[in-house]
Amino acid sequence: MIYNFCAGPSMLPMSVLQEAQQALVNWQGTGTSILSISHRSEDFLSIQNAMIADLQELLNIPDNYQVLFLQGGANLQFSAIPMNLSANIKKAAYVNTGFWSQRAVNEAKRYVDVQVIASGVDAAINTNWDIPDDVAYLHCTPNETIDGIEFTKIPKSPVPVVADLSSTIFSRPINVSDYGMIYAGAQKNFGISGLVLVIIRKDLIKEALPGTPTVMQYAYQAKENSLFSTPPTFSWYISSLMLKWLKQQGGLQVMEKLNFAKAQTLYQAIDNSNFYMNKVPVACRSRMNVIFNSQDSKLDTMFVAESKKAGLLYLQGYRAVGGMRASIYNAMPLAGVQTLIDFMQDFERRHGTTKS
Ligand code: PMP
Repeated sequence: MIYNFCAGPSMLPMSVLQEAQQALVNWQGTGTSILSISHRSEDFLSIQNAMIADLQELLNIPDNYQVLFLQGGANLQFSAIPMNLSANIKKAAYVNTGFWSQRAVNEAKRYVDVQVIASGVDAAINTNWDIPDDVAYLHCTPNETIDGIEFTKIPKSPVPVVADLSSTIFSRPINVSDYGMIYAGAQKNFGISGLVLVIIRKDLIKEALPGTPTVMQYAYQAKENSLFSTPPTFSWYISSLMLKWLKQQGGLQVMEKLNFAKAQTLYQAIDNSNFYMNKVPVACRSRMNVIFNSQDSKLDTMFVAESKKAGLLYLQGYRAVGGMRASIYNAMPLAGVQTLIDFMQDFERRHGTTKS
């Protein structure tokens, strides 16, 4: 059995892959491939409508929110957000908890005056941030995919909260009305790359900054039903299957229990060992991206090579960070985590027992 711990694009459930495999050749008995369906057709519209209905069911999206399906990755949203939300107030607050927050800050600085109001693990442990009321919005990243840091408590805010949920969406229930806008790339918890989900309060969809490309304007995309340019139709299709799969699993409360059990089991194995460590404070450890390392980077390299041979794929940490990272998104079963722990213990037995 192969288990894929990639941080994204991540593993998909076998049932989703098998249905997609069939659809590649003959989608729903139409005699044509899902890859060759017009995005203007009734057929494609039915996929989109089903996605919106399933999203509403899974996330309880209130009526005053607009769902958009966009392109350009979450990276493009780092620019689209200030361009769309700050035409009136050219100031925004950012919480910087790690790599992706920093990226968002860097891009926003091109368009608005950025105030970083809290940073580091402390900002994740205590989310009672001092939020100014004279900014257009507050941006935060509830799960830092590279740093392995997560927070779940969103504070009351005098300005709309914009959250990058790329690596945590659908892993647990959320209260959409806590946010002015949420966004997430699909390739971790609900699909493949190419699609970015945006859910935004309708009153925030306004005139964008002058010079904002049409394709990046939320107002235009809302008017065009997210079909301004040809969408990544296959990415949408895979997400439509993933949303159905999430419903079949029992919804987000069930996913939360399973994801909690997976993360808990893995962190316990790390903490109980004399060989592996995770330096993130327990209060803000990510349930999705578990980073760990041994005392020795050579052993880490060996770990990654040997684990690959044992059928445990993509366990190397982010290239600038090193060590190991196990991404255990929705599609990773508990059995995958247990197999990883068995391998870790075996590796430890073979390579030493030191930890300071
Ligand atoms: N934000 C977070 C939290 C991410 O994990 C990632 C991707 N790893 C991004 C943003 C960037 O997403 P994309 O590569 O889809 O642009």
